[in-house]
Amino acid sequence: MDKNKYYRLIPKVDKLMDSDEIKNLCSDCGREYVLESVRKVTEDLREFINSSDNEEEITRKVDSVSADIEQDVKSYTTYHLRRVVNATGTILHTNLGRAVVAKETAERIKELVTGYSNLEYDLEKGERGSRYSSFENIITRITGAESAMAVNNNAGAVLLILSVLAKDREVIVSRGELVEIGGSFRIPDVMAQSGGNLVEVGTTNKTHLFDYEDAINENTAALLKVHSSNYKIVGFTESVPLEELAELAHRHGIPLIEDIGSGVLVDLRRYGLVYEPTVQASVKAGADIVCFSGDKLLGGPQAGIIVGKKSMIDRIKKHPLTRALRIDKFTAIALECVFRQYIDEDRVVDSVPVLKLINRNLNDIKNQVERLSGRLADEIGKNCEVKTESCESQIGGGSLPLEKIESCAVSLKPFNMTTSSLEMKLRHAKTPVICRVVNDNLLMDLRTVLEGEDEIIFDGLKNIFK
Ligand SMILES: *Cc1c(COP(=O)(O)O)cnc(C)c1O
Repeated sequence: MDKNKYYRLIPKVDKLMDSDEIKNLCSDCGREYVLESVRKVTEDLREFINSSDNEEEITRKVDSVSADIEQDVKSYTTYHLRRVVNATGTILHTNLGRAVVAKETAERIKELVTGYSNLEYDLEKGERGSRYSSFENIITRITGAESAMAVNNNAGAVLLILSVLAKDREVIVSRGELVEIGGSFRIPDVMAQSGGNLVEVGTTNKTHLFDYEDAINENTAALLKVHSSNYKIVGFTESVPLEELAELAHRHGIPLIEDIGSGVLVDLRRYGLVYEPTVQASVKAGADIVCFSGDKLLGGPQAGIIVGKKSMIDRIKKHPLTRALRIDKFTAIALECVFRQYIDEDRVVDSVPVLKLINRNLNDIKNQVERLSGRLADEIGKNCEVKTESCESQIGGGSLPLEKIESCAVSLKPFNMTTSSLEMKLRHAKTPVICRVVNDNLLMDLRTVLEGEDEIIFDGLKNIFK
């Protein structure tokens, strides 16, 4: 095979740079940048010709040079992080960014970060202020705690608390609470990292007050209670009520720390869910330090919020790890917004999107499903069976794993492609739509499909079947 014939077909870099297609790319992305891709793609082509004996493939590659350049440029210049439609029905979907925050919160962030702010500046005194002052005052008022602060996430909060309060000393934890939360956060590992010594007491299903009491000695730094978040031990079980643990800890002059997982500030029974212990209840029951996530049931930004006794929070604020785990201004702004939303308990269910999605009326979802499936039946009914189906939404994010919320879905079964191929096509749509495949049907639970997103689903499907 005469390779020279093919080498001659490789377009010259100058010539490519002069072509209309590439010139257009240059005006979008800058000449230098495109030039690099042109060099790279033509060089790759040379190597391909060198190594391949398949004339047909070589010809195809030569013909696609311009397209390959464009793709190379675009692979760097299109956004990787994009808005997607969550049609899975999982409200706190960790892969899809957990809690959706309110538009007002986003507006406020935009307003404040595109200029300077008093993030750490005390406007009264004209001197350096605290990064936590934007929300400390509200969160202590809501929870009844003396003091509050926040770090990057709740895993960081637990690590920090133990590093400050338990280094080189013992912390007593029930064997039923040695949990692993997604993303390899394991209580025993975090304890080891903090320098605290884990003392396990009780059994997986039952831990009694005397188990804790028997383990307390002069080297005990604290009792730790951990919410089992993403699993539940049911049946023959027993754990010690927080009040009793607090009383025991205080009798021995040590603190009770609680990692409550999701930062619930309202009684979820109001929204038809089971009771989840609230932060207020933990503070009231006597926990000295309580920490929780910002982006689980609280419905705010990623953060680990720590509330509790002022003397301990002051010590935590001074620890070097606090600086390493500190929240950025985006988070400080968003936390202030979300805690403000909780001031009015009656309206919080409308102002915090996570609570709003949990609380959505089943009939509203059914109506939304009827409307969308009707339109879809007209538009793509020739290519796809369109049905409505009852389904169950989940909270997700490792919160309330056993709670299922009745919901309703559009169910699709394409005639001329597999269900998984339809799932893939929707995932690759201009605005990706993320769905579940259940019993070989594509299910779109509309509980988590937000205002205006029905149209995105409709357009996406219309395009796929056009
Ligand atoms: C989710 C969770 C964590 C981790 O919180 P992040 O904010 O995701 O770091 C820690 N402890 C418990 C009990 C949790 O449920």
